[in-house]
Amino acid sequence: MIDQQTRLYGLLGHPVAHSLSPAMHNAAFRAAGLNAVFLAFDTQDVEGFVRAMRALPMGGASVTMPHKSAVMPWLDGVDPAAQRIGAVNTLVYRDGRLTGYNTDGIGALRALQAVTQLPGKRCLMIGAGGAARAIGHVLVHQGVELSVTNRTDERGMRLASSLGCRFVPLQAARLGEADIVIQATPVGMGPGDPPALLPLEGLRQGMVVMDAVYNPLQTRFLKAAAEQGCLVVDGLGMFVQQGVEQFRLWTSMEPPVDVMRRALLQSLTGNR
Ligand code: NAP
Repeated sequence: MIDQQTRLYGLLGHPVAHSLSPAMHNAAFRAAGLNAVFLAFDTQDVEGFVRAMRALPMGGASVTMPHKSAVMPWLDGVDPAAQRIGAVNTLVYRDGRLTGYNTDGIGALRALQAVTQLPGKRCLMIGAGGAARAIGHVLVHQGVELSVTNRTDERGMRLASSLGCRFVPLQAARLGEADIVIQATPVGMGPGDPPALLPLEGLRQGMVVMDAVYNPLQTRFLKAAAEQGCLVVDGLGMFVQQGVEQFRLWTSMEPPVDVMRRALLQSLTGNR
């Protein structure tokens, strides 16, 4: 029941119509018996949203494209990991202080750790956008031997240099040279997209292949990888885990992971 005691959480982004976060977090709040609700706010007015958060007050928020970096100057504090990544996807309002965190990287980390050990592994990351940046930071921190490749060399080189890792131009990158491959571009979302940006020949048994794309859940890249006996990690694993970490930051409670995953799966299949 929604009443005067209901704690408000929300998503700051533009657009937000297809976001899966409300379904995931509302299911989690219900399962945990919390009097809280999560709404999606489609706005370009970042400063206005932050003012509203303090005034109402809201308990916390998720932040998505295109506001992950733009919101940072309006906060009272930013977690050091999010500061290094240069983006926040989570806001926590507690004791009059608004603090920013980034749970995208930790989400990917948890999803990968469920299938493999990371230290010392050779990882090829395809992409150099926000997701790649967040994932790259946690992987380097875990002692992964990371290489970055990207459609636009300059952006890829910039990310590699900030991570202190190797950049490989797309034409020279080979899937077969890695133990772990992470696809962190939107390629695979569109029906006319190629299966991957690199030739699939290098896929081999036992290799870990993760796709950040979660709609469709099984991209053509993941399908090809599974057919070659790779251990596949879908984008939903990362999405659930970044949400799990948000729930923990907002409530200090143990998150109902299975409920969150089920709610996401239901909205994904319902959206088709
Ligand atoms: P972004 O900041 O816009 O970066 C996009 C990246 O993809 C850039 O490296 C870009 O290369 C590359 N790219 C875009 N279109 C391409 C194309 N047609 N061919 C080749 N490369 C292309 O986006 P992002 O936030 O990193 O998101 C990337 C993907 O990850 C999205 O599909 C997003 O939904 C997904 N994601 C998933 C999660 C999760 O929890 N599962 C979390 C965050 C993001 P250039 O530098 O050449 O432009």
